[in-house]
Amino acid sequence: MSLRFYNTLTQQLEVFTPQHGNTVRMYTCGPTVYHYVHIGNLRTFTFQDTLRRWLRHRGYQLDHVMNITDVEDKIIRAAMEQGKAIGDYTAVYEQAFLEDMDTLRLQRPERLVRATEHIPEMVEAIRTLAQKGFTYDSDGSVYYRIAAFPQYGKLSHIALEGNRAGARVDVDEYEKDDARDFVLWKARRGEEPFWDSALGAGRPGWHIECSVMSMKYLGETLDIHTGGIDLTFPHHENEIAQSEAITGKPFVRYWLHAEHLMVESQKMSKSLGNFYTLRDLLAQGYQPEVIRYLLASVPYRKKLNFTFDGLRASQTALERLRNYQLRLDTTRFAEGVSDSILEATRKAKESFEASLDEDLNTAEALGAIFELIRVTNTSMDSGEFKTGNVEPARQLLALFDSIFDVLRPTVQAGALSDSEVDALIAERTAAKKSRNFKRADEIRNLLADQGVILEDTKDGVRWKRK
Ligand code: AMP
Ligand code: ZN
Repeated sequence: MSLRFYNTLTQQLEVFTPQHGNTVRMYTCGPTVYHYVHIGNLRTFTFQDTLRRWLRHRGYQLDHVMNITDVEDKIIRAAMEQGKAIGDYTAVYEQAFLEDMDTLRLQRPERLVRATEHIPEMVEAIRTLAQKGFTYDSDGSVYYRIAAFPQYGKLSHIALEGNRAGARVDVDEYEKDDARDFVLWKARRGEEPFWDSALGAGRPGWHIECSVMSMKYLGETLDIHTGGIDLTFPHHENEIAQSEAITGKPFVRYWLHAEHLMVESQKMSKSLGNFYTLRDLLAQGYQPEVIRYLLASVPYRKKLNFTFDGLRASQTALERLRNYQLRLDTTRFAEGVSDSILEATRKAKESFEASLDEDLNTAEALGAIFELIRVTNTSMDSGEFKTGNVEPARQLLALFDSIFDVLRPTVQAGALSDSEVDALIAERTAAKKSRNFKRADEIRNLLADQGVILEDTKDGVRWKRK
C-alpha cells in the first residue's frame, strides 16, 4: 500500500511518508471562537477526522495540534459590543465547539492550544523576524515585508507583480488580489485588549499564532498542515513566510486543503449569513450521524453542495447500512460458506482501502461498501450467503465504521435517566413473571431505541448504554 495526498504546494499527488519514523506531525488551523461554528467549518474538521483515522488505520501515530483562535478582529469587536472581556466571550464558543466536535464524533487532536496562551512566544518570533530584517515598524505596529521573502506566493501560486511595494494591511483577513505586507503586531488601539511586551503594548496579528504554535509543539518542519481552501491565501502563505524566514527550513511537507461547503453556489459563511450550525440541523430533527455521513461522503477536494435533499439521501444511505448490519446480526444463515461471497468481500475491502489510500476518496470507498451490500443482500435472499460469510462481512463493516463512525445511533439528550431505565426493567421483569411477554418485548425494544442494551444473566438483568 502507499498513501498519496494532493499537496497544494506542489499541485501534485504525492506518496506520503512521515519525516520521523512512524509519527505524523500534523497541524490544523482551528476555529475562530467568535460564534458557533457552521457546518461548512465542520466539513473541514470532518475531513481532518477522516484523515486522522485513516492515518491511524495505516499504522501511523499522530502528534496533531489544533489551535483555537481566541484573539482576533471579529472577536474583539463582538466582545466589546457586549461589554465583555474577550476570554469570557470566547469561552462560550470554545466550549460549544468542543461539544459540536463530540456530537459529530470528531476525534480530539493530541493538543488543543489557545492563541492567548502563547503571546510571549509570538513576541519572541516577531523579534527574531525583526533581527533578520523581515519587518518594519509603523505607528507602533510591526509589519512583515513580503518583498524580503522572494518565495512569497509559492503556496497559493499567485503572481506578485501587481503588489505595490510597501502597501500593507492591518486586518486579519484580506482578499487574494491584495498581496500586501501584513501585520505581525498591532499597536494598542483605544479600548481594545492589549499585552505589554518588548514590542510595546499591543496584540498579535492572526497569522503569527499558527507559525508559533505549530513549530513550538511539532518542530521546524511539519509533516502535514491542513485547513479549508480559503486559508491558502493569505493565511497559510503568511505562515510560510514567517516560519521559513525564522528557521531557513521548509515549514510544511504536505499542505492539504479541504474544499468548501456551498449553498446555492456560494461558500457557506458567517459573513454571507447563508449558514446552518450543527445545532440548527439537530433542532430540525436530523441525527448527528446523518450530518457526519453527508460531510464525509464527498471527497474533501470536491465542493460539497449542501441541500436538504442531500441530507435526506444521507439518511437513506445510513438506513441501508444499518439494515444490512441488522440483517447480518440477526439472520440464521445455513451452515457452510460461499467462496464467491468471500471473494466479493475481499475485493470490497481491497477497493475500500485503495480508495482511501488515494487522497481519501471517500465516495469511492463508500461505493465499494454499497456494491458489496447489493451483492450480499441478493445472496442472502437466494440462500447463497452462509454462516462462514458472516464474520468477514462483519469485519469489513467494522473497518468501514472505524473511519466513517455512523452506525451507532446517538442517544438523544433528554433520553431516559438511569432511574427511569431501572423502573422499566423492573416492569419488564414483572411482565415476564406474569408471562406477559408482549409487554416485556415492548419494553426491551423501547429501551433499545433509547440506546440501552439489556443482558439477562442468572443474577438478574444488567444494562448498559450503547
Ligand atoms: P474560521 O473559524 O473561520 O477560521 O474557520 C475554521 C475552518 O473552517 C477553516 O479551516 C476554514 O477554512 C473552514 N471553512 C470556513 N468556511 C468553510 C466552508 N464553507 N466550507 C468548508 N470549510 C470552511
Ligand atoms: Zn492557522
